[in-house]
Amino acid sequence: MSKKPNQPEEHCSFCGRPASQSGMLLSGLNGYICADCAHQAGQIFAEHNRKTQNPRFEIQSTDIPNPAEIKQFLDLYVIGQEAAKRVLSVAVYNHYKRLRYNQEHGNQNEVEIEKSNIVMVGETGTGKTLLARTIARLLKVPFCIADATTLTEAGYVGDDVENVLVRLLQAADYDVPACERGIVFIDEIDKIARKSENTSITRDVSGEGVQQALLKLLEGAEVNVPPEGGRKHPEQKLIKINTRNILFICGGAFDGIERAIAARLNSNVIGFKGDEKRQELDRNNMLQYVQPMDLKKFGLIPELVGRFPVLTALQPLDRNALRRILTEPKNALTKQYEALFQMDGVTLVFEPAMLDLVVDRAVEYHLGARGLRSIMEGIMTDLMFDLPAMGKGSTYTLTRDEAERKIKL
Ligand code: ADP
Repeated sequence: MSKKPNQPEEHCSFCGRPASQSGMLLSGLNGYICADCAHQAGQIFAEHNRKTQNPRFEIQSTDIPNPAEIKQFLDLYVIGQEAAKRVLSVAVYNHYKRLRYNQEHGNQNEVEIEKSNIVMVGETGTGKTLLARTIARLLKVPFCIADATTLTEAGYVGDDVENVLVRLLQAADYDVPACERGIVFIDEIDKIARKSENTSITRDVSGEGVQQALLKLLEGAEVNVPPEGGRKHPEQKLIKINTRNILFICGGAFDGIERAIAARLNSNVIGFKGDEKRQELDRNNMLQYVQPMDLKKFGLIPELVGRFPVLTALQPLDRNALRRILTEPKNALTKQYEALFQMDGVTLVFEPAMLDLVVDRAVEYHLGARGLRSIMEGIMTDLMFDLPAMGKGSTYTLTRDEAERKIKL
């Protein structure tokens, strides 16, 4: 590889440069290659592999999990939320079926199966993003998560709406046909609601304008996106993406929407057996009665609401659910800490009363499931600091008393 005295200088067999210019050369049976050419060759191979065989995104009929199987998988990671799980399982199943149907029938479809975009309404920390992420684990289609609060209309500071598709394209390794079959989760969709039901003549950067822009993506248009993201500029090459088959799932807390729901339900029942009907309503969980018109009332434009035919609500998490979240999911917090301790040869045991305490605190602070992690971290940090000094093969039992002391600190 290096030049020996009195030998002619070695050259890269690909670019022809001598070792003195190209730097180190790797030798093969009959030639040499420099770092630049090796790097380029690597890229060419990667590109070829991506184009010819992207098995990640190839859907075989046998690959399609049925709704019950999809739900079973969701059950491994997400506690409760039965209604939302069922809706999502069916939506994902239909998404696959529609893709296969389009694949088999091409443009001569007698029946065009339209996609059913979904809105999930639920308090923060109830599992909307978790559901979306869990679905992503299972899927054989590209998947990305975008945050509606970062989106603005073209021309304003922030992300253009098309950048949602850039993320999907990146998730698809720049494979355009795969991207065109993907699923996008848009979080905090409620944050782009317009502030009042009256249309304003002044431009509403964060609200209606973004909704209009989003509508274009949802309508199944051909959208030109800058492959690297960011703003479009004239000399940049754009990639055309058809959004007809991309499934959009949105999530939002829609704070205060209960009032609109309650007002609608109350006015509906006035005048006919009002009291009986009213008693049947579960006043503590009005979200479950959410209807598309409530989203309109909240400030989503009717065209956008119309593009989301499936609407489902997530339940607030009660004590029982929070307690289960601590220990039951496949990657439950307690299992994660146990694994961390096991790596140092220590068996960690949580006293059940200690876990009840964590749930008490999460309820007290109104933090929902999001709070469980920070409360646990607060308790565990010192222990993890001392962990390497605990003897291998030992067992550590974390009691409620000890946890209480740590929380108070
Ligand atoms: P949202 O998107 O509804 O605001 P997330 O899905 O981000 O809430 O939830 C925050 C965290 O709380 C998750 O990472 C997860 O650890 C936990 N969590 C929330 N809901 C559930 C649930 N139903 N089952 C299991 N874990 C949950």
